[in-house]
Amino acid sequence: MQIALVGIGKIAVDQHVPALNDSPDWDLAATVSRHGTVEGVPAYQDVDQILEERPDIRVVSLCLPPVPRFDYARKAILAGRHVMLEKPPGATLSECHALEALARENRVSLYATWHSRQADKVPAAKAWLADKTLKRLHINWREDVRKWHPGQDWVFEAGGLGVFDPGINALSILTEILPVPVHLTNAELHFPANRETPIAASCTFHHPDGADLRMDLDWLEPGDATWTIEAETEGGTMVLENGGGKLTIDGASDDAQPGLAGEYPRLYAQMAELVQRGGTDMDLSPLRHVADAFLMGKRITAPDFDW
Ligand code: NAP
Repeated sequence: MQIALVGIGKIAVDQHVPALNDSPDWDLAATVSRHGTVEGVPAYQDVDQILEERPDIRVVSLCLPPVPRFDYARKAILAGRHVMLEKPPGATLSECHALEALARENRVSLYATWHSRQADKVPAAKAWLADKTLKRLHINWREDVRKWHPGQDWVFEAGGLGVFDPGINALSILTEILPVPVHLTNAELHFPANRETPIAASCTFHHPDGADLRMDLDWLEPGDATWTIEAETEGGTMVLENGGGKLTIDGASDDAQPGLAGEYPRLYAQMAELVQRGGTDMDLSPLRHVADAFLMGKRITAPDFDW
């Protein structure tokens, strides 16, 4: 299938282009970006133009930041294209619901991707937790924003999510591996005085069996990132590290080569399957927790942040 990639920036270059090039399902037929291009691929700057001029391209993958994404998605859906959305699927829950309704009306597939759910060890963590009684779970997600989002001011602008941009990856794993739904009860959000989104956050959640569930996010962690979920159950302990790439159960790790390389190839395989069967996948539960954190969060002023 021919596909167009929209928003040729960091994630498009790092992950989407290699995944598409290696896939038997997809032919990267065009890009849409005001500045970015991919060598050897026809480049457009205007989404209206490509939707008009390239009826052969039936699928559009949007790699833009969340705030501008809705307008692009809406136009593509109204033009009868199937749409794949980078995470988070939108800047608000309401616009995601609107897109889902529009996709159903226009009989096209819509996929809210969560790349961290596709990490190697997430299915094994989910299977292990399925029959356990949870006592405690702690998400510890710390990285250096200067390394992972160099100069990307949109992450600190309203709608950019701030530290919840990586934090929502942890929430996408949490909502995948827990056998029961949870909801946020408290949050403390640390906003740099000169920015519109938080740079650190601590959240607690209600678990139906009373388990102690906490999440700590920090965007000023120097050196290697920590992307860890630790769970203590009545049947043992589980540590899911490296963003879902490594799993340790009761101190024993089961893989010599843990990794995240399969995430984007799996997302595109899933999109191919959705288009073929005419399906839509719009699980918004990770974004709902982030919205709750912004609704409930106590605002704490942190020092200015500059790149
Ligand atoms: P980015 O490089 O800052 O932006 C991607 C591209 O979007 C830009 O190169 C730009 O292309 C276009 N763009 C930016 N602002 C726009 C606007 N207001 N209107 C229209 N186009 C605009 O961002 P990114 O890091 O790739 O992240 C994009 C999405 O992927 C985010 O939702 C992020 O959460 C997700 N993601 C990022 C990473 C990561 O490691 N960075 C990892 C996983 C997922 P033009 O200027 O050429 O139009």
